[in-house]
Order: sequence, then C-alpha cells, then structure tokens
Amino acid sequence: MKHRSYWLEQCAGDAADEPPLEGAARADVAILGGGYVGLWTALRIKELEPACDVAVIEQDICGGGASGRNGGFVLSWWPKLASLAKLFGVEEAMRICRGSEAAIDEIAGFCAKHAVDADFRRGGWLWTATSSAQMGAWESVLRISEKMGVEPFRRIEPEEVGRRTGSKAHRAGVLEASAAVVQPAALVRGMRRVALAKGIRIYENTRALAFTRRSPIAIRTERGTLTAGKLVIASNGWAASIRELSRSIAVISSDIVVTAPIPERLEQIGWHRDLAITDSQTMVDYYRVTREGRIAFGKGGWTIAYGGRIGANFDRHAGRAAEVTADFRRYYPMLGDVPITHDWSGPIDRTPDSLPLLGYLNREKTIAYGIGWSGNGVGPSVIGGKVLASLVLERSDEWGGHALIGRPLHNFPAASIRYVGAHIVRSAVAAKERAEIWERKPSWWSVQLAKLAPAGLEDKS
Ligand SMILES: Cc1cc2nc3c(=O)[nH]c(=O)nc-3n(C[C@H](O)[C@H](O)[C@H](O)COP(=O)(O)OP(=O)(O)OC[C@H]3O[C@@H](n4cnc5c(N)ncnc54)[C@H](O)[C@@H]3O)c2cc1C
Repeated sequence: MKHRSYWLEQCAGDAADEPPLEGAARADVAILGGGYVGLWTALRIKELEPACDVAVIEQDICGGGASGRNGGFVLSWWPKLASLAKLFGVEEAMRICRGSEAAIDEIAGFCAKHAVDADFRRGGWLWTATSSAQMGAWESVLRISEKMGVEPFRRIEPEEVGRRTGSKAHRAGVLEASAAVVQPAALVRGMRRVALAKGIRIYENTRALAFTRRSPIAIRTERGTLTAGKLVIASNGWAASIRELSRSIAVISSDIVVTAPIPERLEQIGWHRDLAITDSQTMVDYYRVTREGRIAFGKGGWTIAYGGRIGANFDRHAGRAAEVTADFRRYYPMLGDVPITHDWSGPIDRTPDSLPLLGYLNREKTIAYGIGWSGNGVGPSVIGGKVLASLVLERSDEWGGHALIGRPLHNFPAASIRYVGAHIVRSAVAAKERAEIWERKPSWWSVQLAKLAPAGLEDKS
C-alpha cells in the first residue's frame, strides 16, 4: 500500500479508481499527469472546445503526486516580480503577477461553482524572518514593487508578526494579502470529479512508458497504447526522465509533518488560522493550520533525485520528518508536547529561476509541456492549464502568446554532475542556515557554496 498524505487520507474512498488503459484507445488530446496542471488543462480544453475528446493518463490516482501532498499554500507570483521584470520587462511582469493573483480568485470561484469543499481560506501569506540573517529578505521585492507603483506586500510591525504567528521566533515580516490556503487533495479530487462529469476520460493506475514524437502520437503504457493527435506533458518532477526535459528541472524533496488537533492551544497562542506562513530560508519552512486545528509544517529541499528517478524516499522518509519536526519544535517550543501524527514527502520540479517552463517539445508543435512549478504550483497551475490548452488547440489568444512560453531549456548540468553538485550545494545551504538559525557565524565555504543554489520561491535581497 502506497504511503499517502494526511490530505489524501482524508479523501480516501471519495470515488472508485477509474479503470486503467487496456489495449488500444484514441483521443484528440492526451494528457500525461492527473495533477492540477493536467486537470486544469483538460478542463480548459473542454471549456473552449466541448467536442474535443480528452484523455488523462495517470500512473497513480489523480492527486497521488504533488497536488495531493502539498502544503496547500495558494500563492501569487508577486515575490518573483524582479525576476519576471528582468526576463520580460516591467509591464509584462506586472501583467503576469496580476494574472497569478486572479488565478487565486479562480480557484475560489471553481470551488464555489462546483461545490468542491477544499477549505479555501484567504488569510494572506506572511513572509517572515526567524534569524538575523533573514531580516529584510523581502526588501528588494518591496523596492521593485514600489518603483512599479504597486504594493502587494504590506509591512507588519514585528510584535504583530509574533502575535499572528503565535511565536516570537518570528522577528519581522511582510504580508501578501491575496494568498490563501486550501486542503490540496480535496481540490485535486474535486477537479477530478468535475473533469469526469464533463466527459474527460481518466485512466488511473496507468503508467506511460514511452511516446512517439511524430503525429499521431502513440503513448505506450504498461497494458495498452493511447494514440492522440496532441499530447500535453504535465508530469511534474517525473518529466525529468523525458530526454528533452531532463536537464531543465532538478527534482528535490519537500517534507511535511502534521500534528494532532490542538484548536484551543492555537487560540491560546494567538495563531491566525487562515495564514500561510514561511520563513526566509532557502530550505524554506512553511506552515499553516488545517480545518481541524492541526498544524501542517513543511520544509523544502532535503534531498535530490537522480534525474527523474523518484523512489519511495520521495513518499516518506523518517530522517527528514525528524528534521522537519525539529524545525517545528524550534519555532513553537510552547507546543513541544504536541504529538506528530502524520508525515510524508513529495517531489518538487525546480527550475534554476523557480519559474515554470511551458512550450512545445517537438517541431510539429503537437506535444506541449508545462513543468517546473518549483514549489509554487497550486495557484499558478491555473495559468498553466490555460496556456497548455491554448498551445494544443493552437489558439493565438492571450494565453497562447503568454510570455512564459518557450523559455530556454537545458540549464542544469547532466544528471550525474547535477546529482553530486546539488548534494554538495544542499549540504552547504543546510550548514549555513543551521548556523544562522542558532545565530552562529556560518563557515566561509558554506556561504560561498550556498550562493550556487537555484533561486527560491522569492527574489530575496
Ligand atoms: C510536499 C510538497 C509541498 C508543496 N507545497 C506547496 C504549496 O504549499 N504551495 C504550492 O503552490 N505548491 C506546493 N508544492 C508544489 C505543488 O504541489 C506542485 O507545483 C503542483 O502540485 C504541481 O502540479 P502538477 O500537476 O504539475 O504535478 P503533480 O500533482 O505531481 O501531477 C503530475 C502527475 O503525473 C503523474 N505521472 C508522472 N509520470 C507519469 C507517467 N509516466 N505516466 C503516468 N502518470 C505519470 C504523477 O503520478 C502525478 O500525479 C508542494 C509540493 C510538495 C511535494
């Protein structure tokens, strides 16, 4: 039995698995991956062209990947404003960020329209500092926002940051009010239900083994072949095993622990329950409260996969869960007696600049990909779905011409070098951040090597 996240456990038995693909089948559009990106794409195609025959291939169940395991932070791209401006200019960067804010509203609207009970709560994102080294991590983002005449982030008084988070470990912070939290698996399972109702076929427990690059595209699975006019690759970190994409993403882990329910204790310490909270580490700590008054506390970046080989240590890892628990206890020592009841892991498809890669894989433009969400995919996957739908339907609308389409691939070194190099850099980042969190001076070598780490969730100062 596969180890599941707390979120997915809550959805267990919501629907029987869809039957796997057996033998030969056809579709107009095949989608590889039944997570947010694949399902938003499928839903968007049906919205634009109801007669289009869409089939999703999923090796597990829908939501079995990152979409059913994440922290449930629904964030915008405002913290990437500087990177986006550098890539596409100020106007376009603003448009992209505004679009990412609108995507959060769309998730709320989708849940309301289709009665998807995904516990969508908009309490904003509090980006905090928990050590001297982290202080002011947001300054460059605030500066560039100011220069562009927007104010997505609001400074919060240090005492107030401590009060809202329920812990004085948080010394300063800024609030991005558009952000929300969701029960992530309930969202993806709800999308699955709506997709099936709209006539989208889903083959669960069906692993794609290979696909041809020429039309019609034949996708070979364990027990059959799906032939399609178009293919969308929405397979997150697993896409690192696709030759053309293998050097474009590095697959790292993110690990989450969940506590027993403690609603009264949370009220006592004053934690605002709808808040999404992060610190400013590269190996970021992220935490929020569940509907039941549990704390879900996660950390990114503990391990790295070799290419696209995502093994069982990406489902669960006791050692990493202990490290995450230690971070939780450090920030919330007053909850030291609260037991951890659940823990799990998942893969993150990290790009060098933490922005996604969207485009066509082949010259014929019959295969499109949308990968590299870099740990911020819950909100932005809505945009991914629109872009990918426009790409495969060959629409020259605002989404088919989105600035993020066609960015260069192949930025990382080959798998073996990347694997060794990434481990060295990760160890340096961990050593540096461990020293900083205890207010010790990090070693010179850890500081130098840590500079080689890819950009994170935010453009930090
Ligand atoms: C622990 C964790 C915490 C995170 N926290 C947050 C957060 O708080 N906020 C946020 O915005 N983002 C977060 N993320 C990232 C976010 O979950 C992802 O960016 C998002 O879910 C990406 O959606 P997706 O559809 O691309 O990927 P997935 O949901 O992983 O979907 C891809 C699917 O493809 C399937 N697949 C892969 N290969 C094959 C194959 N060969 N054949 C058939 N099927 C295949 C997989 O089984 C998988 O279900 C987190 C991720 C993890 C792992």
